[in-house]
Amino acid sequence: MICAFIQDRAMRISLLTLALATAFTSSPTPAQSTAPTTFTFASAPGRLPKNVIPIRYDIAVTPNAAARTLAGHETILLEVTAPTATIQFNSLNQKLSNVLLDGKPVKSVESSDEQQLTTITLHAPAACGRHTLTFDYTGKIQTKPVGLFAQQYKTPDGVEGELLSTMFQATDARRMFPCWDEPAFRAVFKLTVTTPASWSVYSNMPQASRKVDGALATTSFEPTPKMPTYLVEFTGGHLGEISADHRGTHFNVVAVKGQEEGGRVALATAQQILDDYNDYFGVKYPLPKLTSIAVPGGFSGGMENWGAITYNDQALLVTPSSTLAARQKVFWVQAHEMAHQWFGDLVTMGWWDELWLNESFASWMTARETDLRNPDWRWWELQDESKEKAMAADARANAQPIIQPVVNELDAMNSFDPSIVLDKGQAVLRMLENHMGPDTFRQGIRNYMKKHAYSNTLAGDLWNALDAVSSKDAKDGKGGRISAIAASWTTQPGFPLVSVAVTCGADGRRTALLTQQRFLLQGLGTGKGLWQVPLQVRSGGGPAQAVLLTGAEQRIDAGTCEDTLTVNADAIGYYRVAYDPATLALNTRRFTTLKDGDRIAMLDDQWALAQAGAAPLASYLALVSAMGGVQNARAWDQITGVLGTLESYQRGAPGHAAFTAYARDLVRPLARQLGWDARPDDTPGVQKLRRTVLGQLGAWGDPATVAAARKRFAAFVADRSAIAPDDQLMVMSIVASSATPAEFEQLHAIAKGAKNEAELRRYYQALTSVRDPALAAKVGAIIVSGEIPKQAGTARLPLLGRMADEHPQLAWDLFTKNVDALLEPYAPFGLTFLAQEAPGLFWRAAPPEQLEAWIRQKAPAYMAPQLALGMETARFKHAQAAMMRKAADAAVAAKVTAR
Ligand SMILES: [Zn+2]
Repeated sequence: MICAFIQDRAMRISLLTLALATAFTSSPTPAQSTAPTTFTFASAPGRLPKNVIPIRYDIAVTPNAAARTLAGHETILLEVTAPTATIQFNSLNQKLSNVLLDGKPVKSVESSDEQQLTTITLHAPAACGRHTLTFDYTGKIQTKPVGLFAQQYKTPDGVEGELLSTMFQATDARRMFPCWDEPAFRAVFKLTVTTPASWSVYSNMPQASRKVDGALATTSFEPTPKMPTYLVEFTGGHLGEISADHRGTHFNVVAVKGQEEGGRVALATAQQILDDYNDYFGVKYPLPKLTSIAVPGGFSGGMENWGAITYNDQALLVTPSSTLAARQKVFWVQAHEMAHQWFGDLVTMGWWDELWLNESFASWMTARETDLRNPDWRWWELQDESKEKAMAADARANAQPIIQPVVNELDAMNSFDPSIVLDKGQAVLRMLENHMGPDTFRQGIRNYMKKHAYSNTLAGDLWNALDAVSSKDAKDGKGGRISAIAASWTTQPGFPLVSVAVTCGADGRRTALLTQQRFLLQGLGTGKGLWQVPLQVRSGGGPAQAVLLTGAEQRIDAGTCEDTLTVNADAIGYYRVAYDPATLALNTRRFTTLKDGDRIAMLDDQWALAQAGAAPLASYLALVSAMGGVQNARAWDQITGVLGTLESYQRGAPGHAAFTAYARDLVRPLARQLGWDARPDDTPGVQKLRRTVLGQLGAWGDPATVAAARKRFAAFVADRSAIAPDDQLMVMSIVASSATPAEFEQLHAIAKGAKNEAELRRYYQALTSVRDPALAAKVGAIIVSGEIPKQAGTARLPLLGRMADEHPQLAWDLFTKNVDALLEPYAPFGLTFLAQEAPGLFWRAAPPEQLEAWIRQKAPAYMAPQLALGMETARFKHAQAAMMRKAADAAVAAKVTAR
């Protein structure tokens, strides 16, 4: 039996779905015949029965931080939609007592930590309608960031302390309070906490009341809007705050007392970003306040709890010694978590399968907002790096699609591949926005937000909203069914290689035959898949033309024969392009005349084609030598990255010295042009470019560069203001790479004397550049020692990772001996790193079978798909090293230049 109002709702939804399905079946192509699946509460996956729905939680908690325990009392208003004698919800490490339904004792209560479930059996079935469940419970406080956790810290002034904070995504709210811990169960939460009276306490909503009783204070917060459990937040401790009121919203930045002034930049940018998002989404931010909380250590990045976002303090606070990169991070991490206040919080994915919908969208929105507010950062250009990372992962035979079934919610975060979900998702949404036009795309997003506010969705709900505003006519290259285009990018793995073969008419007009196949780094030609590819085609210096490639083959007009041709203008597309030899030669000859984005796309594609064995390495190096003095940070970052990879493959091989000399010759003219000293009119891009090329020349042992770095370092030892924070890492890394034992001691002393965590990370990172094996052993021992404080725990793994290339055996030994401590701060992504990233990072340390065997005994069996991906990368690198050594030797012998 199903209660009446639910039946009505279900019927309405199914009628609507039927109507949509009928509308779609009339469209001509088979790819467009399936209606996108949309969200219904009844059909949302999950383990908990849908006949008991929490409406409102009143949760009172008294944590005992010293004992790592908590005592709680809950009152939960329930809606029973089908009579039931059992009530089931999530719990973990709790003991329930005094369990009453509507004030009457229940028959039995069983809690299973293994199942993470509590089952209450009633004496008689509860009837349809409202009921009140109450109970007391005891629980645990964690020491790592899952559930309610205690975080110890030490401030730069030497003050030691501990605070409590929460991290619930995906399934850890149940560690703080028993609850319906699945995203479709939205409810109102009213939290009350009893803490030491000297503490400041924060939650999603403003304080409603505070009562001091001796040494303790009981604080109640206002009830939240209807939301999922994983967004509930609580932080308490000796905290300070700064605040501002802006257009009806109260903003505050909270940090360990004495650190809060470091939040000035974040406080100002939060207001800018909220203004922009209020406008973009068309639904005003619905909470009265937005708190940004700096947690010292604990986890990396941020967590989008509604109205009370928590950040690793390094991603929120800025000090005078912060670099531009650190300031950029403060902006973009805020932009990301704030985008989730709508995409994730106001509208939530129906199940963890669709976590990508939150994350891809937030990543795209982040880049858009960061670019909008900081045009001189050229943010989209820099995002090409993350797109390339995603494409490298996605060009593997074992790659997973963006939309991945999540069978077991407890593994929700392990099936989340950040490079696919965040970076590919961001790139695909950008391509869609560009295809539809920004105004049309935004209208679709506004309609979606309005329609689904305070509810849940699946991807189909978003595609339907975009379909509804998009022009149905695909002929102008801008229309077409968005749901069908999107499906081709989200439900199949990989991406296409678009091959371009031009023919020239007697009138000088050019036509291009485009064909597509799946791009694979290994086994190109064997992949399956067909995409609807929104191309941007540019001939010469003209505007880009939109073309939608829908089939395996398509012929298009492509400008005039003597002009350069780009099929991925501005590098917006998430696909690769292979030009026929004549077009490639033409583009190479006129490489400096291309627009920056077009040039970046060609560098990326030509390198990927060389890696796949589909083009000679020389064709990529010809582009590099055609760069001349073009000053573009992303292009040169790509180039020095590739040359660095080739150099590392050459290590220990006879061609190493000749290749390094060749690489130095490629970048030296630009280094001379830029010089060492910043000029007042340098853009951030030029400053970054200077650091990139000088740093690389130094790493390749260029004597003049090393000597210049040493001179600057000597001045820095005497006076810490002698090198600007942004340049310190570059100079110190060069010195470290050829350090004498005495210089090493100086570098180490500077690291030990770091005044704050930003400096600490920078100075220890420089140490990892040492080449000398004895010094490297010292650095390795430092990384895993107590010298790196626990609150900077997320720094350890990247530091070790930086040593893996030059000192693979040392890095692997340290990794295997300290794996648990290294991965702990990366929860919940630690296992993903172990299975999927570690093989590609430590590939040189041991034969692939040995790496695999060690990881297999460490990672749970359900991580097998991630391990397969990781091992594919490790084996690919072995094969690449052999192939590229030969190709690089040949290129050096031929002294490849642009023809
Ligand atoms: Zn996110």
